[in-house]
Amino acid sequence: MKLHDLAVVGGGILGLACAISAVRRGQSVLLCERDTCARGASVRNFGMVWLIGQPHGERLALGKRSRECWLELAREAGFWCEESGSLHVAYHDDEWQVLTEFVDSEPDREGLELLDRSEVQRRWPAVRTAGLRGALRCATDLRVDPREAIAALTQWLTAQPEAEVWSGATVHRVTDGELHTTDGRRAAAREIVVCSGDDFRTLYPDLFTAAGLTRCKLQMMRTRPQPDGWRLGPTLATGLSLCHYESFARCPGQAAVRERLAAQWPEHFGFGIHVLAAQNQLGEVLIGDSHEYGLEFDSVERVEIEALILDYLANVLELPDPRVAERWHGTYARGTAEQVPFVASPEPSVTVVTSAAGAGMTMSFGLAERVLDGLAERDL
Ligand SMILES: Cc1cc2nc3c(=O)[nH]c(=O)nc-3n(C[C@H](O)[C@H](O)[C@H](O)COP(=O)(O)OP(=O)(O)OC[C@H]3O[C@@H](n4cnc5c(N)ncnc54)[C@H](O)[C@@H]3O)c2cc1C
Repeated sequence: MKLHDLAVVGGGILGLACAISAVRRGQSVLLCERDTCARGASVRNFGMVWLIGQPHGERLALGKRSRECWLELAREAGFWCEESGSLHVAYHDDEWQVLTEFVDSEPDREGLELLDRSEVQRRWPAVRTAGLRGALRCATDLRVDPREAIAALTQWLTAQPEAEVWSGATVHRVTDGELHTTDGRRAAAREIVVCSGDDFRTLYPDLFTAAGLTRCKLQMMRTRPQPDGWRLGPTLATGLSLCHYESFARCPGQAAVRERLAAQWPEHFGFGIHVLAAQNQLGEVLIGDSHEYGLEFDSVERVEIEALILDYLANVLELPDPRVAERWHGTYARGTAEQVPFVASPEPSVTVVTSAAGAGMTMSFGLAERVLDGLAERDL
């Protein structure tokens, strides 16, 4: 049996990032994905490489490194990756206050620009201007189409001579440097990295429970392609996002925004909704999302959540064709702020990696490199 330098369980973005980073270091790699192609959170998200949402420090550093890799790999593997940036729109003085506090407190953060209402109107006429106070543009945020990008990265990996990709390979046991699949295949590796998303609790239930992790269910949707080549421009985020992303937690004004919005939009708060809109290369607009926490969820998409998201969005954005073409939900493992990203070694030569937050696309490649650096140090 061939001894691989690295075996990876899971072909979502974190598994792919680990496998690709290892191949780029000249290592031999096996990646096992349970389905014929990845169907987890990595193909169900917005595709935002979202530096604006990452707090200063390690998470922002991982995001920046990932950004470089996304741009490089988009060229090499041939998928759409747009430097579209993001736009947080403020319709209240308290939201504007948070945006200005954020900019003042982050002098080193690149690509930030506060824009007044007339500038927003001039550059992005679809943003509603009634009551608009201004907006924060972050030029460094990227966007990919997750379905296209994950497929292209899998194809790129498969074409590398040092890599082997087993699809339809469900790993049911990892032990003593070997992994076993339910269809009777076996492989050996010096190191095994488990990137099976929130499903890692199937392989390591005790670790999942002991760490106190939970799961998050998010609901989102996609419109038809917008007519006549209409483009939204940057990914649009709203006041609700100022309460959601940890990067804004350092702003003293956040508490006032939270208090007002919780009173004004209680149902949105109840479902953990913060409204985002992002357009892909096909002209479709992805809209979301809600955040429900727990270990088990309903299998359905709730019409009520969709209506709440669309109601809020209608105050902010005028879409030429708001008709919804597809709706779905996704899940990820969720930890405390200190557990993001989550990296643990449940047994020798095995490392479990999950972002433990809704930022796996953003942290992906930076996190994979950090994990591989850790393994290299351990092997010295
Ligand atoms: C709706 C939604 C929107 C989001 N938006 C963003 C965003 O815009 N930007 C961002 O940075 N993050 C976003 N996230 C978070 C991001 O999608 C996740 O953090 C990331 O995709 C997790 O990647 P992963 O590879 O760890 O897990 P997954 O994508 O879940 O991949 C795990 C893979 O492992 C496979 N697998 C599981 N068990 C086994 C097994 N036993 N054997 C073999 N294979 C197995 C599964 O089939 C799956 O393909 C969003 C998440 C959701 C749900």
